[in-house]
Amino acid sequence: MSLLVKPCNFCDEPVPKGSGTMLAKNDGTVLWFCSAKCKKNYLKLKRDPRKLKWTKKYVKGGIRRN
Ligand SMILES: [Zn+2]
Repeated sequence: MSLLVKPCNFCDEPVPKGSGTMLAKNDGTVLWFCSAKCKKNYLKLKRDPRKLKWTKKYVKGGIRRN
């Protein structure tokens, strides 16, 4: 991983430095989002990226239970 690119915390797409949104949480965790769409899905909608087809974290066929 290049220092200039970070993966989006929601969809896992690379976020070039200077674009996207950085979010520093109260506990010190720093989150990166490539777009307002990802930020909204993470923060407001609290969606699981593994269930969304447009994210790289999507698990085909759904999440398996163990
Ligand atoms: Zn994203």
